[in-house]
Amino acid sequence: MSGRFAEWVSTADAVRATTKKLEKNRLLGAYLARLEDADLVIAARLFAGAPFPRKDERVLSVGWSALSDVLLERSGKSGDDMRASYQRHADLGDVAHDLIAGSAHEGEPLTLADVAASFDGIAAVRGTNNKRELVRALLRRADSGEARYIVKIVSGETRIGLREGLLVDAIAKGFERDRETVARANMLTGDIGEAALRAKHGTLGEPTLAHFSPIGMMLATPVLDLAEVAQRFPPPYVVEDKYDGVRAQVHKAGDRVELYSRTFDRVTSRYPELLDTLRAIPGSFVLDAEVLAFEADRAVPFTTFQTRLGRKDVTGEVRERLPASLVVFDLLERDGTALLDLPLTERHVRLRALPLEGPLRLARQTTLDATGDDLVAALDREFLASRERGNEGLMVKDPRSPYRPGRRGMEWLKVKRALRTLDVVVTAVEWGHGKRHGVLSDYTFSVRDGDRLRVVGKAYSGLTDKEIAEMTEHFLATTTQDLGRARIVRPDTVIEVAFDQIQQSERHDSGYAMRFPRIVRLRPDKPVQEIDTLDTVRAIAKGEREAPS
Ligand code: AMP
Repeated sequence: MSGRFAEWVSTADAVRATTKKLEKNRLLGAYLARLEDADLVIAARLFAGAPFPRKDERVLSVGWSALSDVLLERSGKSGDDMRASYQRHADLGDVAHDLIAGSAHEGEPLTLADVAASFDGIAAVRGTNNKRELVRALLRRADSGEARYIVKIVSGETRIGLREGLLVDAIAKGFERDRETVARANMLTGDIGEAALRAKHGTLGEPTLAHFSPIGMMLATPVLDLAEVAQRFPPPYVVEDKYDGVRAQVHKAGDRVELYSRTFDRVTSRYPELLDTLRAIPGSFVLDAEVLAFEADRAVPFTTFQTRLGRKDVTGEVRERLPASLVVFDLLERDGTALLDLPLTERHVRLRALPLEGPLRLARQTTLDATGDDLVAALDREFLASRERGNEGLMVKDPRSPYRPGRRGMEWLKVKRALRTLDVVVTAVEWGHGKRHGVLSDYTFSVRDGDRLRVVGKAYSGLTDKEIAEMTEHFLATTTQDLGRARIVRPDTVIEVAFDQIQQSERHDSGYAMRFPRIVRLRPDKPVQEIDTLDTVRAIAKGEREAPS
C-alpha cells in the first residue's frame, strides 16, 4: 500500500511550523526513513517543491486562470472571496487552503503515488481544457491541507519553504550518511529522489551522472606569470591550448544529443552542424568542450565567431561562413559510468578512445615534466605556439586531479596574458653550474641603440641540451675576449627573450633591466640589424609604468 499523501502534508506542516533547523531536520529525516522506496523518491522530490526531478525537463504548464477556475469550483467560493484571501496570503497555495477549508473531499484518500501520477498526466496532455480537467480531478480528492501543497507545486509560484540544502541534511540524517555524499549524488543524478533512495540503500558512491541534466563546469584560476605555475602544484603538468570560444557541455544518450552553456541553457539548436557527428558516436557520454570556428586549422578570433552566436536560426549562409567546430578537452561520463573521480590522465585515456571526426576534435595537449627555469621556458614555447595557432594561451592542469564541478581551484590554471618578448643579440656568455657545468649556458643579451649594442638582461638558457651544446661550440669559436668565467662573444646570435616586466635600472648599460627574463628560442632567421631597439625597451617600460596594476 502506497504512503498517504496526508502524512507527507503533516510533515511539511510541522517542518514549516518550527524555525529550528535541527528540529526540521529531525522531522523530515524520521519521516523519510519510514517510507517505502517508491514513496521515498516521490516524497523527496515533492519536498524540493517541484513536480519533477531537476533532470526532468517536463513542465505542467497550468495557467493561473485555469488553476483559479478550478479552485473556485472546488470550494464553491466567489471571485471576491478569492481576491480577499489572496490579499491576505499572497500565495495561491495558502489561498487554496483558505477557500477549501471545511469542504468535503471525494473518493479514496490520496497517496503519494496518486499525486505523482496526476502530475505525469498533467504534463503529458496538451491543451488548457485537458489540463484543467486533470487538476480538477486531483483537487476533488484533496482536503484543504493537501490542496495547499498541490496548488503551490502546480502554480510554481513559491517554494514550499524547504531549501534543497535542508532536504539534503535531512536525508543524510535520516539514513545516517555523510552530508557531502548526499549533496554530490543529488548533483550528479539531478534528482533528489534518487539521491534519497541511494542514501537509503547505501549506494551513494555509485558513479552515475544523469544525462541531460547539466552539472557545473570546472573552472580555472588565472596565473599572472609562468613562474607562478610551479608554485601551484608539482610536475608533471598537463598543458592544453586555451581555445577562445564558448564553453559547452555535451550530453549524448540513445539518439539524443544536447549542448548546454555555462549557465545550463540548452544551446543545441545553435550548432546544428555538430549534431550528426556527435550522434554517430556509439554509446552515451558527457563531454566538456569549447565551440569555435577554424579557418585552415587556425582558430578564428572570438570576436568574429561571436557574430553567429546571437542568432536563434543558424542559416546555411552563417554555417558556411563560420562553421562551428567542437574542441573536446574532457570526458565526464561514458556508457553509464561517471568518470569525475578519475584522475585527469585517466579521463583523457578514455577521451582519446572516442572517435572524434569532422567538426569534432581533441584539444591539443602535452605533458611537461620540468621544474624551475626549464619549466618556464617550456611553458613559454607552448604559449607562443598556442598563440600562433590563433588560441588565447594555455591551460595548465594537474594530471592527478578529479573533475570538480563548478569549482575554481588551483588544479586548473589559465595563462592568457599576452607575453612580452624581445628579439635581442647575445653579447656575452658564462659557464653554467650544476648539470650545466662545462657548457656555456648563461647568456647576456643586448638591444640596438643606433650603431651600439646595450645590455638589457641576462638569463639561463631555456634551450634544449642539444642546442646548448651547439651554442657552446659556436661561442667558443666566436669569443673575442676570454675573462675566465665569462666570455665576450661576437654579436651574431639572435634570440627571443620573454619577460614579465622591464624597468629602469642601473644594473646594465642600457639603463633598463628585465624581471624574469627567459630565453624562448633561437632566431637564426633574424639578422642582427633587425633586433629590437632601445627605443622599444623605453616604450615598453613607459607603458608598464602607466598601465594600471
Ligand atoms: P576564462 O573564460 O578566461 O575564465 O577561461 C576559462 C574558459 O576557457 C573555460 O570556461 C573554457 O570555456 C575555456 N577553455 C578553452 N580551452 C580550454 C581547455 N583546454 N580546458 C579548459 N577550458 C578551456
